[in-house]
Amino acid sequence: MTRVSTLFRLQTLDSQIDAHQFRLAEIEADLSRHPELDQARAEEAEARASLETARQAVRRAEEETRHQQQRIAETDKTLYGGGVRNPKELQDLQEEAASLRRYLAVLEERQLQLMMQSEDGEKTVSAAQNRREDLEQRRVEAESKLRSEQSALRSALATLGVQREAMITAVAPEDIEKYSAVRRAKRGLAVVRLENDSCAGCGVAPSASRVDSARSGQEIVQCSNCGRILYLG
Ligand SMILES: [Zn+2]
Repeated sequence: MTRVSTLFRLQTLDSQIDAHQFRLAEIEADLSRHPELDQARAEEAEARASLETARQAVRRAEEETRHQQQRIAETDKTLYGGGVRNPKELQDLQEEAASLRRYLAVLEERQLQLMMQSEDGEKTVSAAQNRREDLEQRRVEAESKLRSEQSALRSALATLGVQREAMITAVAPEDIEKYSAVRRAKRGLAVVRLENDSCAGCGVAPSASRVDSARSGQEIVQCSNCGRILYLG
């Protein structure tokens, strides 16, 4: 193992650790929120509230219809009960009964409309409930997958951490310091291979003398453009 190949192996480990930690953070974010399900729950609640309003309207309409039927029955009772004999009075009563019946028809039509609205509301609730239940079911499955992935990542991270601890003892403190500084500056990627004579970090080709210096692996040579440590492995 040369100085630089050790740093390259450390980089490989750290990149794996970074990727695992990134994925863990994604999973934690996924587990903490479920906007689609929240939306479906809100829609179901709204549909149920609308249905309740529609049902109340139906009950009121039924009450009004019943009340109107009572008034008609009372008028008929007076009209045909034999108590009223005056022709003018009888005619007024007949007109009143006819008028009450006309309005009953209006009320019945209104009640029918409201009942249809209420039935539509039931269908909307049922669709919203199915959708919410379906999403809940899928959520349970998705969460179970996420939790197994989470636990696999955690145990992989623990193993990588142990490997890193072991590896770090073989690296000179000044190399760690250099490596860490470049890693911080270069979003985690401090050591790169030289690929087709170019820096794999930025694509710029280092000079022949730099490549020569890097070849032994015992000298830390940085890319003149991006500053990453060059590894010729
Ligand atoms: Zn570079």
